[in-house]
Amino acid sequence: MSHQSVGITRREWLRGAGLAALGAGLLQVAPGIAHAQISATDASNNVYYRFKLGDADLIVVSDTAFQLDATIFGSNQPAEDVIAFFDNLHVLTPNNSVNTAVLNLIMLSGDTVAVFDTGTGARLARTINDLGIGTENVTDVLISHYHGDHVGGLLSGGALTYPNALVHFPQPEYDYMQTAASNVVGSAQAAIQPALDNDQIAFYAADAEIIPGVQAVYTPGHTPGHMSFHISSGDAQLLHVVDAALNAYATLPNPTWHARFDTDPALAVESRQALLDRAATEKLQTMGYHFPFPGLGYVARQGEGYQWVPVAF
Ligand SMILES: [Zn+2]
Repeated sequence: MSHQSVGITRREWLRGAGLAALGAGLLQVAPGIAHAQISATDASNNVYYRFKLGDADLIVVSDTAFQLDATIFGSNQPAEDVIAFFDNLHVLTPNNSVNTAVLNLIMLSGDTVAVFDTGTGARLARTINDLGIGTENVTDVLISHYHGDHVGGLLSGGALTYPNALVHFPQPEYDYMQTAASNVVGSAQAAIQPALDNDQIAFYAADAEIIPGVQAVYTPGHTPGHMSFHISSGDAQLLHVVDAALNAYATLPNPTWHARFDTDPALAVESRQALLDRAATEKLQTMGYHFPFPGLGYVARQGEGYQWVPVAF
């Protein structure tokens, strides 16, 4: 086989799998580059992973990735222990940070085009258009909680990014926002205001069926009204934990570690333990919003905690 034909074969394979963008990203991991220099963020690339869940087509889009201070993931532990934990996994950057993905799930099922959270506004909407889905054809936007990396993509230039979609927002989260300080929830309130003004928002209760096949799973603690999602199509199921577990490699083995972003850390631990126990017991396909791309895999028991078993593809 000539060198050229190898190249063509590989390109065709990448295109066929819809992974060309990811392939380009992997090329950045060149020999001799220190592990701390690896970055998954290239804003010029669409990065997505497409798979089937029963009859539904699901796509994970990488909206962006950012560096978070490592100690955020174990705020009730000695900082040096948390830093050493990540350093031991070779994922610590020179400034003691950890690369953290932002992953948005799209579900195509019958007439439904649902988007789970909206990212920061970096790559998600553009990728939806580049995939030929079209932001104007999104029927439902499901919001898990008020944080900026989840509602930040609701608006583009002040207008609704998904102009024809109904925004589903957790009722307990909205209730909390009514009394919370504006410096905490003000930007989220601004992000949902156009949907409120347009009567394009619906509030869902804890454990409600939000749209057909998608059940809310009330997991408070990260924020007061944080929701995870149980998605099913036929016999196939996917548990999207969203931010109930923030870091696949630290939070799962150490589910009692607090995250600095958690509004009520003790309640977050309680929700997390129940959710991870369910994922392991029911052997559910699982997704994390901030897990390494594509954020899909399984939760296996390991000692007092859990182990992340990422999907192989
Ligand atoms: Zn988040």
